[in-house]
Amino acid sequence: MRIRLDKVGDEPFRWSEKETIAVESMERPDLLGLTEVEWSGSVAKAPPGYRLLATLRYGQTLACGRCLKPCESRVESEIDLVVMVNPPPPMAGEVRLEESDLGVLALASEELDTDPVLREQIDLNIPMSELCRPDCAGLCPRCGADRNETPDCCAEQSVDPRWRALADLKPS
Ligand SMILES: [Zn+2]
Ligand SMILES: [Zn+2]
Repeated sequence: MRIRLDKVGDEPFRWSEKETIAVESMERPDLLGLTEVEWSGSVAKAPPGYRLLATLRYGQTLACGRCLKPCESRVESEIDLVVMVNPPPPMAGEVRLEESDLGVLALASEELDTDPVLREQIDLNIPMSELCRPDCAGLCPRCGADRNETPDCCAEQSVDPRWRALADLKPS
């Protein structure tokens, strides 16, 4: 969606849309699936710029960081951005506290393309490591089996090295 900021009048521009984002285009290998993104929001004049407020709702499927099983979750998140068109470069020594406190989106023209904003938000909502459950046992490093389902897959072959050392000490 593209919003012409110069057309935003005294009343904020509002929308409520559904967007489809191709999961492959997100370039996040851990993201296996993405539902339609429902989002609604507004852009209002907030001199010297504008303010964008939006709420996103969607479902994501992520690979478990240990066993790689797909885990589905619902996401609801908020966007709150100050939009500035051609913001002046900071003066020497000027501390831009406002910009570090609030998210600021600097644009080169009066046209706001919401696609990158939406994508960035989805990207930010992907956790560093998703787990299917907090105690996920992961995959067996020896045979690759899911240890949650077959905890003893390689039990026979793996001999605790401490026991092996004791066995060597025993006179034969
Ligand atoms: Zn898992
Ligand atoms: Zn195994």
